[in-house]
Amino acid sequence: MKISEKQQNLLRMLPGIDTILEICDTEPFFENIPKSVLVRSGRSVVEDLRADILDGKHDISEQSLTEPSIMEEVKLRVKTIMAPNLIRTVNATGVVVHTNLGRSLLSDAAVENLLNIAKKYSNLEFDLSKGTRGSRNSNVEDIICELSGAEDAMVVNNNAGAVFLCLETISKGKKAIVSRGELVEIGGSFRIPDVMAKSGAILREVGTTNRTHFTDYERAIEDDTGLLLKVHTSNYSIVGFASDVSLEDLVSLGAKFRIPVMKDLGSGTFVDFSEFGLLKEPTVQETVATGADVITFSGDKLLGGPQAGIIVGRRSILDEIKQNPITRALRLDKLTLAALETTLRHYRNMDDAIASIPTLRMLTLPIHEVEAKAKALEEMLESIGDARMSVKLINTSSRAGGGSLPLLKLPSKGVGAIISGISANTIESHMRSHDPPVIGRIEEDVFIMDLRTILDDELPIIKNAFENMLKRA
Ligand SMILES: *Cc1c(COP(=O)(O)O)cnc(C)c1O
Repeated sequence: MKISEKQQNLLRMLPGIDTILEICDTEPFFENIPKSVLVRSGRSVVEDLRADILDGKHDISEQSLTEPSIMEEVKLRVKTIMAPNLIRTVNATGVVVHTNLGRSLLSDAAVENLLNIAKKYSNLEFDLSKGTRGSRNSNVEDIICELSGAEDAMVVNNNAGAVFLCLETISKGKKAIVSRGELVEIGGSFRIPDVMAKSGAILREVGTTNRTHFTDYERAIEDDTGLLLKVHTSNYSIVGFASDVSLEDLVSLGAKFRIPVMKDLGSGTFVDFSEFGLLKEPTVQETVATGADVITFSGDKLLGGPQAGIIVGRRSILDEIKQNPITRALRLDKLTLAALETTLRHYRNMDDAIASIPTLRMLTLPIHEVEAKAKALEEMLESIGDARMSVKLINTSSRAGGGSLPLLKLPSKGVGAIISGISANTIESHMRSHDPPVIGRIEEDVFIMDLRTILDDELPIIKNAFENMLKRA
């Protein structure tokens, strides 16, 4: 590559990092900024400018390489680096278990226990009655058995880990039979066929995308069949000319041939949502009652706890799973255990669970309560008293999210905001860059906030975000 004389002159203007650090020394803004951050910011500015010059970017001029404009850029990068990356946001999307926004919120009691365990020593692996080493998971596993009716239980880092661990233990080097309609991709990089391959289980697909019959499973059974696997089609639904085999039937087939049956429930709930007028999802208890040998589900989807993977099932199989050396790599940390245990304790009393666990509370929130919140927000925004803005109450629908109840459209109430001279896209990005960010959505060119997922004390934040936007516009 040939460098022109003009480029050479521009390159010569770039300051060295020492020069930048010297200038930082003289400016009060940089006074308390750690040196590592100054070096990182200064270097990245100079490197980006060098790349731009070599690329022949037209907007690079001698003006953009003067000391004040370089230092202005260094300042911006220092600000970005010094700001925390993981920050709270307001979820105005109406998607309750929003995978991008942190899935489930913990109950107050779960947070309190987590904080207590974080700050103090605990009996994490100490048996207080015997004064000897104890098991770190036994408390939480006992509660899971009590709630689910399962013989045994185990907890790991997340449900992906749970599925992998079960497959690796039960079906490594053996065939696992799965319906073609259940070879799901959950999002991110979790695809059932890939997880199976990594675990060493050999995928034996049966049936078709829309229909799989009992005889498909039956005919596929061979000497080296190690598992019959059913996977919850969490984020989609096959409707129309479709049929699949019930877990009960698969359990009877497994019993006949002495082959274990596993169900990846995905979301997993102890609550029968149909009692609240929502769609029916088989509960964990009902799934255990089918006699399936192993069942896996998430801790932070419909269960409403921290990120975790829960395995329940037959003791003989759980014993094997617990012996697998990989469990150590998948184990839960004590903070998660503390939050999970408290979350599970709520379920001993369903009313307490619904009232205390935010995911359940939001999903079952009566429409008149959502409407009352929407009215409060509408009034609050109107009280700003800016003639450019018009707000109105709207009907909308919330979603469960997190790959659960994919067909559910939960009637909800929202507030839509229009500001003359500001497009819906601009409002959306403004709200998103507020501190804390407010994440809504756009419907028919209107910025919409669904009140189902907005917490009561977040209304003033939203008002503040609009006030800032209107002031600057
Ligand atoms: C969500 C999901 C998983 C992955 O669970 P994580 O807790 O996100 O690891 C696996 N299987 C199914 C069917 C799911 O819905």
